[in-house]
Amino acid sequence: MTSQRQYRHGDTGPAVAEIRSKLATLGLLPPEDPRMDPEAMRSAKFDDEVDLAVRQFQQERAISVDGVVGPQTYRLLDEARWRMGDRLLSYTVNHQMVGDDIAALQTRLLDLGFDCERVDGIFGPDTERALREFQRNVGIPADGTCGPRTFKALDQLSRTVVGGAPHAMRASESIYRAGPSLTGKVVVVDPGHGGSDPGVVGHGLTEAEIAWDLAARVEGRLGVMGAHAYLTRGVDSDIDEMARAEFANATRADLLISLHVDQHDNGEPNGLATYYYGNDRYGHHSALGQQFAGLVQREIVARTDMLSCQTHAKTWDLLRHTHMPAVRIEVGYLTNAADAERLASPSFRDTVAEGIVVAVQRLYLPPEEDAPTGALKLPIPT
Ligand SMILES: [Zn+2]
Repeated sequence: MTSQRQYRHGDTGPAVAEIRSKLATLGLLPPEDPRMDPEAMRSAKFDDEVDLAVRQFQQERAISVDGVVGPQTYRLLDEARWRMGDRLLSYTVNHQMVGDDIAALQTRLLDLGFDCERVDGIFGPDTERALREFQRNVGIPADGTCGPRTFKALDQLSRTVVGGAPHAMRASESIYRAGPSLTGKVVVVDPGHGGSDPGVVGHGLTEAEIAWDLAARVEGRLGVMGAHAYLTRGVDSDIDEMARAEFANATRADLLISLHVDQHDNGEPNGLATYYYGNDRYGHHSALGQQFAGLVQREIVARTDMLSCQTHAKTWDLLRHTHMPAVRIEVGYLTNAADAERLASPSFRDTVAEGIVVAVQRLYLPPEEDAPTGALKLPIPT
């Protein structure tokens, strides 16, 4: 299956047969006959039942629910088949292992107090470090590889699950230790879409252009504050979400801010929403991502007359594959006349940029030095 191909309601063929069998393995479709002949493969249908199962899967995984199997949904379907103990797990620099078995391992490590940073189903250096620490603690060779002995040790230690709170506390302590100054902090600003992908088009505006303009304003303000701001794309370039994530990781950014505007089939929905990495259903999320998203949401709402559509946990590629606290901001709906009118105004865009940069500053302020929402004033770029 090529990465760009999408499968949806009405499609038929071997790729649909593969999707059906993956959904059946996960219990989202009734079990299928494993010895499917080529004729049955060719006539496999993406019908109502498959559409519903795909939507259910997308809902469970906290990605956009559209019933379409595109690259991200396909990859997640593939990862979902792994159960802990199915294979050896280890850190490989060039091609990191991903899968539900790794998410299960990370949850177990965090619950036992070994800090692998977060549950993202990706076996990275933090997971390896936490795993070695666990292995040392239980007296088995600390090789950083999760094999039969480690699985057994993890199984035997059935400590009561405490949940995410102690982990969240450690994360916010470390950000205050970083100090309140933005000087030297690296922030990657990601204008959504671009190039051949305009994003949402409505009321004479395009999402890619708005995102670009907002990003440039945020970049300018961050520069005034002494931070290094980098944009993920040029004004007209085409770049996918994974490449944006890799760019942010390569710059060793402290924060990532992704800028988008939303759309809806009818013109009614409007307002501002922010997203951070996580999945409420499984009870895990990036604590700092959530804190940062909450600050962005409050600072923009306090400065504008936009409706607050709240902050939400999602596992979109850009949020999941970046190592730093990341927030995606949907600045209103371009399909809504009032939001489009707001977005057309340069002074509105400037106010949004101010709200975002104030949120960045507040993230690094210890609670006792922090100002009330909407009250912090920062220098304006000239
Ligand atoms: Zn977008």
